[in-house]
Amino acid sequence: MAQQRTNSAFERLTDRLSRLPGIGRRSAQRIAFHLLKASRDEAEQLAEAVLAFKRDLKVCGECGHVTESDPCPVCADPDRDAGQVLVVEQPSDVASLEQTGVYRGVYHVLMGRLAPLEGVGPGELNIDRLLSRVEGGKVREVILGTNPTLEGDGTAMYLAEQLDRRGAKLTRLARGIPTGTQLAGASKAVLSDAIQSRHAMGDG
Ligand SMILES: [Zn+2]
Repeated sequence: MAQQRTNSAFERLTDRLSRLPGIGRRSAQRIAFHLLKASRDEAEQLAEAVLAFKRDLKVCGECGHVTESDPCPVCADPDRDAGQVLVVEQPSDVASLEQTGVYRGVYHVLMGRLAPLEGVGPGELNIDRLLSRVEGGKVREVILGTNPTLEGDGTAMYLAEQLDRRGAKLTRLARGIPTGTQLAGASKAVLSDAIQSRHAMGDG
């Protein structure tokens, strides 16, 4: 009986873990074994962090940013220019760009980038909402601020194709950010420069 119960608790946890993105059966088992050896405190902190995350965080229905309110503070701010939309991969990119204090428009968070080899297609990202925002007619400019990586550039190119002829001007953040680095890791000065010297798509 006791043996059976142990097995089912183990199965239940590994089954739950393996439903998470990027975690296969083997990784799920490794995490379960780790938690088996960990203190009760560590396991409780993990469980509590998951619950607090779900309880306190909300996805902004407008831009997809993750904060404690919906709409997020940026979308809710009447002083921000809703006609200018900066498209980024992650909520952490918004945080980095906000720190520069230079940008006065709003954002659109994709929640990732296109990665065909990992099975991340347009349907997995917050793209449809972006297209409908632009089609709504209030957006003058879409600034593509995906990371200057192979996948970030590929995502920007895909978005440029989708957004072409939908009425908004398309720009890309300038290349002050070295190729291959993540936006969230760039310095304030570099990010400010990237925003200010953004260029129209197609200008190279
Ligand atoms: Zn928002």
